[in-house]
Amino acid sequence: MKINDEVRTEKNAEARMADDERMPNDKKATSRLLVILSFVIRSSFVIRIWLLPLLLLSFAPGLSYGADNLGILGSKPKWSVLENYQETITHDEFAHLINGVYCTHGFGPDLIEINEKTARILMNRESQKFFVLRFSENEGARKPVPRLWRAAKSLPPARAEKPLSGLRIALDPGHLGGKWAKMEERWFQVGSTPAVQEGDLALHVARLLAPRLRELGAKVSFVRNGNEPITAKRPDDFRALARKILIKNGVPQPRADVLDPNDPAKEQTIRWQSEILFYRYSEIRRRAALVNFKLHPDLVLCLHFNAEGWGDPNSPTLTDTNHLHLLVNGSYLAEELEFDDERFEMIRRLLSRAYDEELPLADTIAATMARQTGLPPYEYPTTKSTTKVGTSGYVYARNLLATRLYRCPVVYCEPYVMNSNDVFARIQAGDYDGMRPINGVERKSIFREYADSVADGLVDFYSKARGSSD
Ligand SMILES: [Zn+2]
Repeated sequence: MKINDEVRTEKNAEARMADDERMPNDKKATSRLLVILSFVIRSSFVIRIWLLPLLLLSFAPGLSYGADNLGILGSKPKWSVLENYQETITHDEFAHLINGVYCTHGFGPDLIEINEKTARILMNRESQKFFVLRFSENEGARKPVPRLWRAAKSLPPARAEKPLSGLRIALDPGHLGGKWAKMEERWFQVGSTPAVQEGDLALHVARLLAPRLRELGAKVSFVRNGNEPITAKRPDDFRALARKILIKNGVPQPRADVLDPNDPAKEQTIRWQSEILFYRYSEIRRRAALVNFKLHPDLVLCLHFNAEGWGDPNSPTLTDTNHLHLLVNGSYLAEELEFDDERFEMIRRLLSRAYDEELPLADTIAATMARQTGLPPYEYPTTKSTTKVGTSGYVYARNLLATRLYRCPVVYCEPYVMNSNDVFARIQAGDYDGMRPINGVERKSIFREYADSVADGLVDFYSKARGSSD
């Protein structure tokens, strides 16, 4: 089966990825770095989006032909892999996914051209090379989609008490937590109470969820099961690249260090930039390599806690606002589609049909989470980077690194505003069995409520999709 080809090529991609992370010291790589950075998007703090200006690095002399236009630490796209998807999708399905899910904010006119029998996708603007995808004439003539993950419908019926039997689920607790939480800006502390660290909260939920899912028959793996990064890189490894990024962004003499953590200009320091290259770009790309080349799950659950802007982390603002939403991949910005690697990754994801699986899954999990948490749906203040999808009212498409790079269905959970009065009190109460009064209401531990509501959503989805063998 052609899948093996893809696996082989992608193993090379892993080697390339490791190369790309050595980029700052690798002169050869400089030629590939045409455009490094357009957007730095804080992955889950949905209200805090940093927009950095477009960065242009000039071509190295003598290498001006067909240079790739890659995102930060991006891998050179392997367009030939898409040959495996010829005639696996009809014109109408492709057009629907492009217009309704992935490219809802429009795109440059030369990037994707949908014709009656084919779609033409720009591989490289410099060399004017295009990939031509041939559509299947009708649904009946569709060739099978090559992929390593298994859709629920393709799994055999299961016993009623083991609806997840044989299913491979990878749990990805967001961020790092521990000693990295302050650097990640996923840390706040009210007075002398224990600090709130999103990475630690998410890991606790994952550790409660894993045994529940195993009891239900799933094979569970962890993308992260501790406070240490998956990437071997550290911020200092990215100082040269951080400096380059800042200079190209119009900061001719970037400061080395952050002097005042509350100063917004800290983002223009080499320290801040090299830290985000470490804990965001390098870390998530290494997690993707782990998911795609080692774990091979049928589903990844990204577990996060949300927040509203809290201001000074040592004297955070608490709010009465609390909400829930879930994310699947989609809703690419026109600027993101300009990057050859992001456009390639989007098309590969579209053709893998992960959306057909992750959307109903996310909707089903959203329903049980909404019921058990009682949380209202989050409404994004702008529709610039997200598109509401599905039927639950809680699910959005958004192009995050993890939802784009993990090559299988990915459901990204964003319940609870950590700095809401209610959630803060529940976090301070810690984990416990049974019910306890919190702010006058009898509640489960927030960690168990989270884990139970996700597990119940999975049971709902897989029981229905697989049917029972009893
Ligand atoms: Zn998060």
